[in-house]
Amino acid sequence: MIIVMQVGATEAQIEAVASFIRDRGFEPLILPGEGRTAIGIPASLNNDQRTNIAANISAMEGVSRVTQTSHPYKLASREYKRENTVIKVKDVEIGGNKFVVMGGPCSVESYDQFEAAAAVVKDSGATILRGGAFKPRTSPYSFQGLAEEGLKIMKEVGDKFGLVTITEAMSGDMVPLVAKYADIIQIGARSMQNFPLLIEAGKSGKPVFLKRGPSAGVDEFLLAAEYVMNQGNHNVMLCERGIMAFDSTYTRNVLDLGIVPVLKEFSHLPVIADPSHGTGVARYVRAMAKAAMVAGADGVMVEMHPNPKEALSDGSQALVPDTFRDLMNDLRGLSGYVGRTV
Ligand code: PEP
Ligand code: MN
Repeated sequence: MIIVMQVGATEAQIEAVASFIRDRGFEPLILPGEGRTAIGIPASLNNDQRTNIAANISAMEGVSRVTQTSHPYKLASREYKRENTVIKVKDVEIGGNKFVVMGGPCSVESYDQFEAAAAVVKDSGATILRGGAFKPRTSPYSFQGLAEEGLKIMKEVGDKFGLVTITEAMSGDMVPLVAKYADIIQIGARSMQNFPLLIEAGKSGKPVFLKRGPSAGVDEFLLAAEYVMNQGNHNVMLCERGIMAFDSTYTRNVLDLGIVPVLKEFSHLPVIADPSHGTGVARYVRAMAKAAMVAGADGVMVEMHPNPKEALSDGSQALVPDTFRDLMNDLRGLSGYVGRTV
């Protein structure tokens, strides 16, 4: 941690910061500079110490800013584990050489709808079937999902086609039910900092698919992963699904593909992009899915509906089956250039 003092900070202010650090058992390193002084704490602090010390020192007289030099997350970091984490779910590996495609409708709406979607996922060569049974909708008047009935449909259809399944749990007490039916537990963007949910998902021992909150930074995102991992469950996938936009006239969110190489550098966890929620517009999904592959993502999650015009949620961003098949072909064509298979 480095504390940068204001230009013109007095000797007494510098000494006050230094003795604050000393009082906590660390030896401050005073670095006089041109016009301003910096003070380093060359010690490995735990998360609590770091957060508390940074907050307290920020409030002291003469301090300009406090900069963290090591990361607040531990288990999710590359320092903790150098090799990429590869998560094995049934016969599917996520985070390995094979680029993973998760496809399916936003919501499980009926057996027939879900089975039709699953048939397309299967025959196009994708391996993971998505569909929400509990839906986090902006309005309480919108379709909320089929709940346990939806989970049952998902399980039955997943088994029928031999596809790995993924669906969302919205609260900690839902986790055991979701874990009973699905192979992977999704934590939605709105729930990224629902800490009791993260803890329960961690305790479940099931692989966890963690979506980035629409306004979460890298540290917050990885600290949310840390909550799951801290329970002894290291099978966490990170999903970039679009962040808050200052102009949402043309796209729903901004798919932040810039975070993909950042996450790959600082974390060993698999990174998946969701161009469906990231753009909110079906005709932009194909381009952004390909861009995600080139950016180094380990896979994509793509919404596809047998009949988007009749979808009960997110119809405007759902690919029709033929476009989903075309996308799979695009990704296969592109995969050689990035040294992967699909
Ligand atoms: C979803 O995957 O359907 C979903 C609700 O996603 P997000 O949490 O990213 O909005
Ligand atoms: Mn959706």
